[in-house]
Amino acid sequence: MLQKKTVEDLQVKGKKVLVRCDFNVPLQNGMITDDNRITAALPTIQKLVSDGARVILCSHMGKPKGEAKPELSLAPVAKRLSELLEKEVIFAKDDTVVGENAKKAVAAMQDGDVILLENTRYRKEETKNEENFSKELASLADIYVNDAFGTSHRAHCSTVGVTEFVKESAVGYLMEKEIAFLGNAVNNPERPFVAILGGSKVSDKINVIKNLLEKVDTLIIGGGMAYTFAAAQGGKVGDSLLEEDKIPYAKEMMEEAKAKGVQLLLPIDTVITKEFKNDTEFKTVPTREIPEGWMGLDIGEETRKRFADAIKGAKTVVWNGPMGVFEFENFAAGTKAVAEAMASISGMTIIGGGDSAAAVNQLGYGDKMTHISTGGGASLEFLEGKDLPGVMAVDDK
Ligand code: AMP
Repeated sequence: MLQKKTVEDLQVKGKKVLVRCDFNVPLQNGMITDDNRITAALPTIQKLVSDGARVILCSHMGKPKGEAKPELSLAPVAKRLSELLEKEVIFAKDDTVVGENAKKAVAAMQDGDVILLENTRYRKEETKNEENFSKELASLADIYVNDAFGTSHRAHCSTVGVTEFVKESAVGYLMEKEIAFLGNAVNNPERPFVAILGGSKVSDKINVIKNLLEKVDTLIIGGGMAYTFAAAQGGKVGDSLLEEDKIPYAKEMMEEAKAKGVQLLLPIDTVITKEFKNDTEFKTVPTREIPEGWMGLDIGEETRKRFADAIKGAKTVVWNGPMGVFEFENFAAGTKAVAEAMASISGMTIIGGGDSAAAVNQLGYGDKMTHISTGGGASLEFLEGKDLPGVMAVDDK
């Protein structure tokens, strides 16, 4: 399906291979609090090491905005990687990323060695995809492999520009897997195909809704987004999240769903509160009858049942975005109900990264899902039907 070269197509023995990973992991006081993105990158690294490549890893971390910010150094990642690979990973500590340390370390490499470069976003050129930094990165290697699905929707030096200046390029196993799962689910789903969208804003998901209406049998909308739809149905949403300028769009989408025979499921009841916090008075009311001074922070029990029933009848489910303010325990039941329903089915279940991935992992359903994407933004753009620049830039087979 993927017409791009993969690591399987490469002859890497004795060659220097620059691998773009997504090591943008959460840190607290210099400690990695979730290493899923690091473990997800291991298969590609291990394959290259065992084939005798000289592996040079790179990644961004956070948003240092072109400055060397010590708190966003990749040094803790090098340490964690060494532990996971059970082999030394040399950290090339250069504020300029491709500096003296990196060059010296690369020159001294033996087959099977692994080096990690410093945070690519220490360089201001990175996010502007400027040629000079792309050339510097490429100068270290013969071959480039992109395995950073989570950053593949960005055209940066380390994801796109570098491909122009290396002899050969390919995608890694993680990238291949992400594209295979998301691509199959969206373009060749076993039906019924149900998509669930949540999160705060309609405006972030306009193109996703439009594209998914072309593909799904049922579209479920929850979270803060749902109130714009409730308002479009003439409902009163009180002080809930509302994007008034998107009401016409919501109306259009409801009509489009009807015209296409797509079942559009919206919340019918909602858990409301007066204050945006966990420990406060709350109650459940019909979604279109939220009084002034109250806001909806979660889907109600009836809605949870309806959504769960739709999920249980599905053969393919794709989910992006929480059903409520799941960070507050009192308003997490809707998000939990969706995760639970997905975990209980035998069909294909895909979590589109970001908050829903965090919620599923937190709830302990991680291993019950077919695939949890490592990229929130990238999987959303994928669901919009867009080509990902980081994938397009790689050599065709
Ligand atoms: P997004 O980044 O668009 O996926 O949105 C995720 C955020 O949406 C989470 O932090 C949730 O707390 C928030 N969210 C979900 N439902 C609601 C709601 N009903 N009201 C306010 N925020 C919400």
